Amino acid sequence: MTSESVLDVRCKCGGRLKRSATEVEFFGIDFGTKKADVCTKCGSEYLSQELMEELEAEVKRRGLFGLERRGRVAKSGNSLVIRIPKEIADTLKMKRDLPIVIYPSEPRKLVVELEG
Ligand SMILES: [Zn+2]
Repeated sequence: MTSESVLDVRCKCGGRLKRSATEVEFFGIDFGTKKADVCTKCGSEYLSQELMEELEAEVKRRGLFGLERRGRVAKSGNSLVIRIPKEIADTLKMKRDLPIVIYPSEPRKLVVELEG
């Protein structure tokens, strides 16, 4: 079997699809080289249903949902404050006074569980 083969399937642009090894990145996660159908005319990539499911499972496993943000710990009185970006707060339906449980789960990982 060759790594590239022209398929009898057409892209929406009319070009032919070719099975190729391509670098796959999804929600900012590098999945390395995967097989995809690439249009020889416009370059559109078509991932198989199986591969899409694999990528989505991995994104869910990592808990990113494309919402990873960087921030900095702030200080308020004797406590440290971590700001929750609006996109994450909205996605998780977080509101002021929502009860939470907070605990370290790994040496460099903090978990915030939302109650109620
Ligand atoms: Zn195309």
